[in-house]
Amino acid sequence: METITVKFGGSSLADARQFRKVADIIHADARRRFVVASAPGKRSSGDTKVTDLLYRCYDAASRGGDWHSVLDQIRQRFADIIQDLGIDFPLDKELDAIAAHLSTEPRPDYKASRGEYLNSRILAAYLGFEFIDAATLIRFASDGTFDDDATNALASEALKGVERAVIPGFYGATADGVVYTFSRGGSDVTGSLVARAVKADVYENWTDVSGMLFTDPHIVPDPRPIEYITYRELRELAYMGASVLHEDAVFPVRKANIPINIRNTNRPEDEGTWIVGAVPTDRRIPTVTGVAGKRGFCSINIEKSSMNGEIGFGAKLLEVFAECGISFEHCPTGIDTMSVIVASSAFAEKKDEVMEKILTRLHPEYLSVEYGMALIAVVGHGMVAARGVAARIFRTVADAGINIRMIDQGSSELNIILGVDEADLEEAIRSIYREFR
Ligand code: ASP
Repeated sequence: METITVKFGGSSLADARQFRKVADIIHADARRRFVVASAPGKRSSGDTKVTDLLYRCYDAASRGGDWHSVLDQIRQRFADIIQDLGIDFPLDKELDAIAAHLSTEPRPDYKASRGEYLNSRILAAYLGFEFIDAATLIRFASDGTFDDDATNALASEALKGVERAVIPGFYGATADGVVYTFSRGGSDVTGSLVARAVKADVYENWTDVSGMLFTDPHIVPDPRPIEYITYRELRELAYMGASVLHEDAVFPVRKANIPINIRNTNRPEDEGTWIVGAVPTDRRIPTVTGVAGKRGFCSINIEKSSMNGEIGFGAKLLEVFAECGISFEHCPTGIDTMSVIVASSAFAEKKDEVMEKILTRLHPEYLSVEYGMALIAVVGHGMVAARGVAARIFRTVADAGINIRMIDQGSSELNIILGVDEADLEEAIRSIYREFR
């Protein structure tokens, strides 16, 4: 039988009303057998996520402050859900266990993980599914780093023969049972690991938006939704800040070629976005799949006569950045000029060291730094074979009266990166949307 692994985010499980929607979605398709749950998220914009309350509790306890009132808020969140769903649950006993850990364990991970743990136990009871603790499936090494191979072996074995189960997201444990969490939003990663372990046909990631959009809706009102996006395209856009998923959630399913379907718990009728290895051949591939941009870059510009003939010049220049621990984004070159584009925040910390090393090792005739650059990634497999895409991008941006400060095209032709003034970022994205929507 086909299998779907479903992951529900915090807003999908924020209260009993959302639990009911989740149960309807799960019961609507018998293939939805493995459920990964987040902790209760915000019920409205001013609300606080249970995970944040748990961290607050931990902070208060480690400062010797009063954590009881925060733990009571957490108790109330779960008590409301349990009461409204009409299930039996030993909440006080569970919260006593958390309270005991507050005074004994120095790290926050165990406490932070309890939102997922409790919510999953409640959901399992409500659905009549088995509850399987992530501590027994997701393995961390004793130094707290995630162990992918051990997890895959452990989870594949443990979930074999399991009919239906709810598994908490966000955390795992060492072989000795010491709990560690992923970074924030990490339930997406758990979902992906479970999907791979059970060889799911699809990994459905249910959230509160109907998938990804062509670009940021704060910049372009109502941009067109993305129906299909490849893992590689997603990576390019996510790097520029556009994503609905935790960055590390793509790798496990990508390796196993399991498609991810981003869905909306509040609008289950929407098809959402499919994240796939390759777009099905019967689908029209748009020229541009999406556009994303980010501010906060600067360009270090160097000029030196006959630079082109000086073998190793580029290597020496990039070595300076490597030694200073600064990752470079792009490196456009001319015959006698070279620029290195880096994040301004990383550069600011090491500016004097970088400039000093460049001056003493490379003896440039001219060295300057230009701040205030934004980068825009125009991404799409459809650009690979199409002619004139670059021309269309440059024309539409020029028509908007915007100066392009840098251009870079990746060798895969999957993306074209533009550098513009930070002030022009939004208008440049709007002009590209007008051209390719
Ligand atoms: N509850 C955790 C967080 O708020 C993990 C998750 O929801 O994915 O970050």
